[in-house]
Amino acid sequence: MKLTTRLPLIITPLIALPLLLLGSVAYWELNQRSETRDVKQMFALLEQSGNQLEGDIANAKANAELFSSDQLLKEYLRSRTKPKRQALLRAPVNRKLAAIQAVYPEYLRVDLLFADGRRDIGRSVSSSSMPPPTPSADLMAGAALATAADHTVTALVLDPLRGEPVLQVLHKIDSEHMLDFGLSTHAQPSVMALTVSLQRSLQLLNNPPWAAGGLVLTDNLGSVLAASPGLALRSLLPVEHLSHGPLRPGSLVDERQNLGSHLHFSYQIRDELWLHAVLPKSTLFAASRNIGWMMLLLTLAAVLITPPLLYQLLKSNILKPIQRLNRALQQMQGGQSLVQIDTGRNDDELAELGKSFNSMNLELYRSGEKVRSLAFNDNLTGLPNRVMFGRSLKRALAEACRHGGQVALLYIDLDHFKNINDTLGHQVGDHLLTAVARLLVETLQTGNGGNDPLLSRLGGDEFAVLLSGSGVVTQSASVARRIIESVKQPLLLNDAQCYIGASVGIALYPEDGRDAEEMVRSADLAMYQAKRNGRNNFQWFSAAMGEQSKARADLTQRLHQARIQGSFELYFQPIIDSRTLHIVSLETLIRWYDPELGAISPDQFIPLAEESGQIIQIGAWVVEEACRQLARWRDEAGVLAVVGINISAVQLHKSDVAGLLRQTLARFDLRPQQIYIELTETAVLDGDRRVIETLNTLRNMGVKVALDDFGTGYSSLSYLQNLPIDILKVDRSFIAELDKKNNSVILSAIITLAHSLGMTVVAEGVEDQGQLAFLNGEGADLLQGYLFSRPQPADAIPALFQADLAGAFIAEPEPV
Ligand code: C2E
Ligand code: CA
Ligand code: CA
Repeated sequence: MKLTTRLPLIITPLIALPLLLLGSVAYWELNQRSETRDVKQMFALLEQSGNQLEGDIANAKANAELFSSDQLLKEYLRSRTKPKRQALLRAPVNRKLAAIQAVYPEYLRVDLLFADGRRDIGRSVSSSSMPPPTPSADLMAGAALATAADHTVTALVLDPLRGEPVLQVLHKIDSEHMLDFGLSTHAQPSVMALTVSLQRSLQLLNNPPWAAGGLVLTDNLGSVLAASPGLALRSLLPVEHLSHGPLRPGSLVDERQNLGSHLHFSYQIRDELWLHAVLPKSTLFAASRNIGWMMLLLTLAAVLITPPLLYQLLKSNILKPIQRLNRALQQMQGGQSLVQIDTGRNDDELAELGKSFNSMNLELYRSGEKVRSLAFNDNLTGLPNRVMFGRSLKRALAEACRHGGQVALLYIDLDHFKNINDTLGHQVGDHLLTAVARLLVETLQTGNGGNDPLLSRLGGDEFAVLLSGSGVVTQSASVARRIIESVKQPLLLNDAQCYIGASVGIALYPEDGRDAEEMVRSADLAMYQAKRNGRNNFQWFSAAMGEQSKARADLTQRLHQARIQGSFELYFQPIIDSRTLHIVSLETLIRWYDPELGAISPDQFIPLAEESGQIIQIGAWVVEEACRQLARWRDEAGVLAVVGINISAVQLHKSDVAGLLRQTLARFDLRPQQIYIELTETAVLDGDRRVIETLNTLRNMGVKVALDDFGTGYSSLSYLQNLPIDILKVDRSFIAELDKKNNSVILSAIITLAHSLGMTVVAEGVEDQGQLAFLNGEGADLLQGYLFSRPQPADAIPALFQADLAGAFIAEPEPV
């Protein structure tokens, strides 16, 4: 179950139950207290009322006694004769009584009674309808009055007209004097009677502080003396309940009775007087009930509000951060590499956790970026590497396939980079690559940021550019041109100007390849074509190149076969002295006749043999075969010939040429002077230490070194002086184009320079008399060409030498 569901389920009872319990306990306790307080107040009121009444009664009693001792009154009582009293004292006594009433308006009546209870004289307030008190004979006889300690009795009687209770106080006036006089007390007034209104004391009774219910005043027997107006007493208080039950003599007795929905409290004011309160429970405990309700409401409100509030608090402080963390982890699992949580300004444990997550994720992201960069970028130049390029290419092709677009792949190879690497060292090579990478980036910048074509270093000195979108055909040609132009500019490396070039092959999607692999192959083929076309140019891929490459692969296969089956043959072309016109040496030239394809030119298959590495074995065979022929000519015809053997650059670098020659010469018992080697510029110009060492070894052995095809490469004349070379073979293209402007000038400079370096100069491809005459004039030492002889099979050589000896060799030059 999720926390969002579980938390409310836990919180709600956890909070609601104790709250409800607390609420109910508080409710109960408050109710109790409130009820007790209400009852106490109730009794306080009853007591206060009772005390008031009691006080009034005591006052009345005291006053009755006080008034009784009045002189005038006594004199009046002492008067024996009726006339005297009537005539002399009645009026003053009346005035006295009126004065008393004026001071105590609550004294409804003030009377003087005879001992037998008859009224002698009295006054009543005008509002009172009270008749004068008529005490029982017994009372008057003195039984009660006499036994009363203070000669006073009190009674509550009903004012019949008002229907309210009044207090009657009877005080027996001390009549001893009168008795002393021996007078008959019979007719003498001897009791002071006060009839007192209890309005003031019974105020509470008449105006009870409760809306319902009220107070009842009863005597000892339960007779109702007074009750609050409107109190349906009969229905509330059973008479027997009032007359028996709680009513016991004694002072301040309180009783509480439960009468159904009403409560009955009794308070004994004095022996014969009880004050009862009869109240509906609802009235008395309204306040406590209200408190209870309030408590209940508060509890309920707390129960309703607290759990959601607490839940919200927990949610925003705990659940939300946890959810955020969870979401972030899921995003991470989903492959999003950079995920950061908003931790806000909190600094609690969860925020700490979030921050830790953030820094961990950032760390991971950075190391991931590093790994990605290492995996997808070239260390040296920082450009995307082959892997990255492959991916981008695949993506671009898929995109183009979906939307019918075009993609161009430019395959760039630096010209002669290997030379620089080998001659100047790898460090300089690295600098050069970095510089070229920078150049290419600058060249490819379109100025609109993200739309620059993708440039990548595939490895070594190979770079690639990916173009996609509309107009890639024209765009790729212009990009290729710009690249070639920029790379052509001299680069400053280690304070030296360095010249380099680039050959670019372009393949287009969908014409030249349907997938990434095919596209790369096509662009690579086109690049090779550009190299073959003389470097520093670009070539579009064409189906023919594909076919050529297929044909090359086929030829390589056949070459392999031919080597195993021994299908090669050596031809020899004489090289003659320009002055004597005698044969000086023979250049060894390999021939291959394929039964299906016919004669295949070494220009065609030697590069294939070099590419496939077969040149090592083929070259070794040539050395072996040349020496074998030398030995044969010597042994069979007595001809001591000298042969020049073509050694490929690959052969020179990858095999022990000097060792091979030494062994083979020894095997055929030949002198080292009988052979010399012909190397192309590319073979020696690499400046490889090992190559130079090999050349020196050969020279020390007595084997001379010739530099072949001089003038076709990129080399300048000045480097010649540093090379261990004996013979300079000027390329036949030079001789063929002697009439071309400058060529004759350059040729004479080459000859002069070579001579100054002690080299022998051979002119190749001499085909006519004009060339012969010019070369003779310029001082070329040796000549080779169809003018003298085409390459001849080995068997034809002895005859050639014989003709030469006879002086007939040059007599009839072969027609060209
Ligand atoms: P190369 O070393 O420059 O050989 C001279 C080439 O010029 C030969 O072509 C030869 O037949 C041709 N030639 C000689 N005189 C004339 C002439 O007056 N006019 C014209 N147009 N051509 C002339 P070939 O035999 O076809 O050899 C081509 C290239 O193949 C050679 O050029 C050499 O680089 C290579 N090659 C031949 N044999 C061998 C070999 O045994 N080993 C190696 N490594 N390369 C060889
Ligand atoms: Ca040669
Ligand atoms: Ca040559």
